[in-house]
Amino acid sequence: MSRKRIVAGNWKMNMTPAETTAFIAKLRPLVDNTEVDVVLCVPAIDIIPAMTATRGTNIEIGAQNMHFEENGAYTGEIAPGMLTDAGVKYVILGHSERREYNHETDEVLNKKVKKAFEHGLTPILCCGETLEQRNKGITLDFIRMQIKSDLAGVPASDVEEMVIAYEPIWAIGTGETATSAQAEEVCKAIRECIAEIYSEGTAERVRIQYGGSVNAANAKELFSQPDIDGGLVGGASLKPDFGKIVNC
Ligand code: PEP
Repeated sequence: MSRKRIVAGNWKMNMTPAETTAFIAKLRPLVDNTEVDVVLCVPAIDIIPAMTATRGTNIEIGAQNMHFEENGAYTGEIAPGMLTDAGVKYVILGHSERREYNHETDEVLNKKVKKAFEHGLTPILCCGETLEQRNKGITLDFIRMQIKSDLAGVPASDVEEMVIAYEPIWAIGTGETATSAQAEEVCKAIRECIAEIYSEGTAERVRIQYGGSVNAANAKELFSQPDIDGGLVGGASLKPDFGKIVNC
């Protein structure tokens, strides 16, 4: 079965609302490609200007985080209903920076994944090992543990719609990319893990991205691996080069 490729930009804490509008105006013609799902995951304050700037295009807007409660006394957080009301379609969950700096646990992420689906949002669930874990040879075990915990109790019909991003922590923002063989090995293992928990059919449908220093020069080889269905792109999504990554 053929899965539609998906390239998502993760702007992290970059771009003001005014910069968002100006950047998207330049990016629009460069990512005009309906063969690929193109997503920009922008800071919360940029969601509204990004929605306006992408109106009538193939670009979807994603958030970088979301709370697992509907609303309430959670200062500084953003609720799922706020995202959908603004027209957001995707939400990154479990990025390693949030796991590290905001102490997001697999238990919390499991609640967030379920809540995202309740609201019709598509999670881009991140997983990935540290360099220490890779050197110890426990990468695959660790990733399987993350996937099993984050998806506990999530039905197959939801998993088939979601996106999983394999992001080795040692490759994020470091300029050090996993080789296509390293990335494929883990993405294949994630698909096998999904097949084990659910079924071969579910594993065939779920889209798995690679993320970690993807750029216009290395994207083609990474995205042509059989189990890699596109990428989650940090630094390079802040430049017009993102267009080249989408089109390769
Ligand atoms: C990311 O933040 O998800 C990421 C992969 O960053 P970078 O492409 O800059 O390594």
